[in-house]
This record gives sequence, structure tokens and C-alpha cells, in this order.
Amino acid sequence: PMSLSDPVKPHRICVCVRKRPLNKKELAKKEIDVVTIPGNGALLLHEPKQKVDLTKYLENQTFHFDYSFDEDATNDLVYRFTAKPLVKTIFEGGMATCFAYGQTGSGKTHTMGGDFSGKSQNSSKGIYALAAQDVFTLLRQKRYADMDLCPYVTFFEIYNGKVFDLLNKKAKLRVLEDEKQQVNVVGLQEVPVSSVDDVIKMIERGSACSSSRSHAVLQVILRRRNFLHGKFSLVDLAGNERGTDVSNNDRHTIVETAEINRSLLALKECIRSLGQNSEHIPFRMSKLTQVLRDSFIGENSRTCMIAMISPGMSSCEYTLNTLRYANRVK
Ligand code: ADP
Ligand code: MG
Repeated sequence: PMSLSDPVKPHRICVCVRKRPLNKKELAKKEIDVVTIPGNGALLLHEPKQKVDLTKYLENQTFHFDYSFDEDATNDLVYRFTAKPLVKTIFEGGMATCFAYGQTGSGKTHTMGGDFSGKSQNSSKGIYALAAQDVFTLLRQKRYADMDLCPYVTFFEIYNGKVFDLLNKKAKLRVLEDEKQQVNVVGLQEVPVSSVDDVIKMIERGSACSSSRSHAVLQVILRRRNFLHGKFSLVDLAGNERGTDVSNNDRHTIVETAEINRSLLALKECIRSLGQNSEHIPFRMSKLTQVLRDSFIGENSRTCMIAMISPGMSSCEYTLNTLRYANRVK
């Protein structure tokens, strides 16, 4: 069997699920855990196709993904099998993208941003920081050190179809497309970084003002003599829950939810097109996919999606939605 330090070579698209543990509130309410990932812990990850099983209730629906991570998986482990294999792509002149998808409260920000709240021992780095760490490690390696690559970071959010710069006082930015279909976010701050700590500062600064109803996009960009060489986009998507409880929703929330659904649908279509090597990528379907257009084209584009799920019975409907979405993407 493969060793854990040796993930399979990345395909163009990798789709995984991550189940979070029941939280204190759910335990207090005696929530039933309806998600089973057969076996336990990291050992099961040795097999490329793992199972997710929604027992009872859902008549034992089984899904298969590239990897399924149970509640014992750490950010480090999840990172190693998802985003880490994509870091090399940007050094080789390609585009890499990693999406965190799922309902609010399922663990997207925990996975991407990690926990910087305390300097406590179990405060863990998320995929943003772990990827940045590997980028700087590779920059120092001999074969890349001579290439004259300079790293930059951008961090922005897309809310209601509008782009805001999280590193520049939430300035509202325009998105323009030129005659060659190149998409440009006008005025987006591209901050030069020279260490992982620099990146972490940007993550903290940007995260402080982003909202869970928006898509947050952190990009690590490599430039070579000012020309774009590679780009890693790490995306903490807006919560995919539908506003089913209409009585509770004002007009504003309904508009917001409709826009989120539209962009997530567009994303699904674009990733599917990438997977099918299709000529036509429907990136204009939403601002999210338009801004990420680069990521869906080119020989050397790689995408990874981590679908986050809450384990509780009361989240069951959302969980099923998430699993179906992830299932369609792969
Ligand atoms: P989302 O960004 O999807 O809305 P969060 O990442 O904010 O969800 O997670 C909601 C809560 O659950 C947070 O308090 C977070 O720390 C906790 N949490 C999420 N995933 C995990 C996990 N795998 N292990 C432990 N706690 C988690
Ligand atoms: Mg969040």
C-alpha cells in the first residue's frame, strides 16, 4: 500500500469530502451522527476511492470520492492530500485552484483559514498558510531559485456579484474583460511577500473583514520578470444553504441567496467543463467563475474541491445537497 506521505499524482480534478466532529452544542442536543466513513482515521486514506455513507434516514446512500476525511483528520492531513500536490503546478507555469464548499458551519473557514484566534498549542494552520509555507520552501529549492520568481498575494471577496479588495479597505473593484477574453480585476492590490509570516499577516488582515455569505479568494501569484508565471487560488466559498425558510428571509437575503446559488451552479459547470477538456468554459455565468477564468483553461490547470459536511441529523438535507454537488463536479 501507498504510504501516507505519498498521495497519488493529482488528476486535473480532485474531489474530496471532509466531515467535521459534532460540536458541543450538537452533543448537548444529542444529535445523531448520520455520516459514516468506513474504518477510522487516516489509514483508510490509503485507498484512492473511499466511501461516504449516509445511514438510516437516507436509505444508505453511498458516495465515492477521491478521498473522504473523517472527524479525526487534521488540517495538515487534509492539506497533504488536497492542495499540497497542486503547489508544484504553479512553479511549472500552471494554474491551481482549491475550493472549500459546504453549508455555513461545516468547516470551510476552519479548513482554509485555520485557527489563528489563540496562540494556543492546538491552534492549527489552515490550507492558506500551509500552501504558502510550501511555496516558500520550493522557492528556495535550487531548481526554482534560479528562475527569478517573485511571490505576491491578493485577497478579495465576491459578494452579491461584486468584488471587494480585502487587503485594501474593502474597495469595490471593477472586473473587465479585454478582446482576448483576459479577465482583469482593476486595481486589485497585489502585495509582494517575502515570507510565510508576511502571508499570514495578509490572511489575518483580510479574514477580519470577510463575510460567510461571500466567496473569499486568496491568491498566491508567482511572477517572473513581471509576467504572470503561475497562480494558486484558494477559495472559501459562500455557504451553500438555500434560504428554505422563506418566512425568515427578507428581500435582501433572498437576493443574496439567489446570487450565491447562481455562482455555485456556474462553478459546477466550469469545473465539469475543465474535467471534460471542453473547449467551451461557461465562465461568464457568474462573477466568481469570470474572475477565476484563468483557472479553468490551459493544459496545466488543476483543481481540487473539498466538500465540507456537518455530521448531524439536523443538517442531513444540506449534507445530501453538498454530496450531490460534489458528486456532479468530479
Ligand atoms: P464555515 O466556514 O463552513 O461556516 P467554520 O470553519 O467557521 O465553518 O466552522 C464552524 C465551527 O466548527 C468553528 O468553530 C470551527 O472551529 C469548528 N470546526 C469546523 N471544522 C472542524 C474540524 N474539522 N475540527 C474541529 N472543529 C471544527
Ligand atoms: Mg466560514
